[in-house]
Amino acid sequence: MRSSRIWLSPPDLGSAEEALVHDAFRSNWIAPLGPHVDAFEAELSAVTGAAHTAVLSSGTAAIHLALIILGVERGDWVLCQSLTFSGTANPIAYLGATPVFIDSETDTWNMDPDALREAVRHALKQNKKPKAIIPVHLYGMPARMTEILAIAREFEIPVVEDAAEALGSSIDGQPCGSMGDIGILSFNGNKIITTSGGGALLSNRVDWVEEARFLGSQARDPGPHYQHSHIGYNYRLSNILAAIGRGQLQTLSTRVAARRANFNRYRAFFSDYEGISTQPEGPAVRSNRWLTTILVDSEKTGGVTRETIRLALAADNIDARPLWKPMHEQPVFASAPSFGGDVSARLFQQGLCLPSGSNLSDEEFSRVSATLNRVLDASR
Ligand SMILES: *Cc1c(COP(=O)(O)O)cnc(C)c1O
Repeated sequence: MRSSRIWLSPPDLGSAEEALVHDAFRSNWIAPLGPHVDAFEAELSAVTGAAHTAVLSSGTAAIHLALIILGVERGDWVLCQSLTFSGTANPIAYLGATPVFIDSETDTWNMDPDALREAVRHALKQNKKPKAIIPVHLYGMPARMTEILAIAREFEIPVVEDAAEALGSSIDGQPCGSMGDIGILSFNGNKIITTSGGGALLSNRVDWVEEARFLGSQARDPGPHYQHSHIGYNYRLSNILAAIGRGQLQTLSTRVAARRANFNRYRAFFSDYEGISTQPEGPAVRSNRWLTTILVDSEKTGGVTRETIRLALAADNIDARPLWKPMHEQPVFASAPSFGGDVSARLFQQGLCLPSGSNLSDEEFSRVSATLNRVLDASR
């Protein structure tokens, strides 16, 4: 018999979510508004420290609205981390703006402040002052926000902080999602907490968060009839999904602990092997370790590559994925400018994400490590 599949990052739900969804049914608030929406927004603000939160239908929708609020229009330039999920960059294209991709640095695997500065200088020389900077906290690891924010302030460019993977991460105790001018979160099915699909836009500016709610609910002007002076979007989160999110959020700290425990187990496991390294965590930084990711240096593993490992895991019905493929290497963004070296390209070549769910069992971890042992021992 084939053993059951071990997923990369499956949903992990409990009885609190079920009770809250029942409450949404009983109250008949089956709409993209209601008491659970209001409560989820307040609870997210409390957890992140951002003064105001609007919950939305996805993280991508949140980035789209953030860019509209910051005035991004056709032909504008937006500086975006290259090593990320396409949901970070697609909204730039929705607006007819040009994404300018910034390479990663090797410490955090996130936006390289030096390449960012070079891109800003280049843009200013072309008389194309960038409309926004979008750094990402990949796999939960905080980007170099101090340096990135300093550059943003120096040149007066707003920052949209893509914290889709980093709820529960922090720098010097400050939660990710609350550092940029606007922060965004995702509650997609694979994220550290999920509403099946969902997202949030966070800011200390109440006018921006109110604008997100307004634009996200079809931009309806006040009044008894349906009157519109702006193009709107249907981007609000439903009361039922907000109920799920509230139940999930209650368990955030135990989820972070479980994901960090996964990481520590993998790291201990790989300490027996040459040529396998993990995403480093700098001083004062705390990653939620959403996914445990490794780099495989085939010159030191005796020829084992990340693909050798991925295929061996796949053959044993275990889900593992390469890191995000950089946006500047994606066919759809082939014509977009990019800045920096080949760090993100190399990370993509060597990087692999391992099963990292907050519900990963001891038995599942044993299965994953047995396969890894077999592949890595074979080449010694
Ligand atoms: C998941 C994710 C998004 C998009 O979120 P959705 O809710 O899936 O639209 C954006 N950026 C990053 C880095 C992500 O991982």
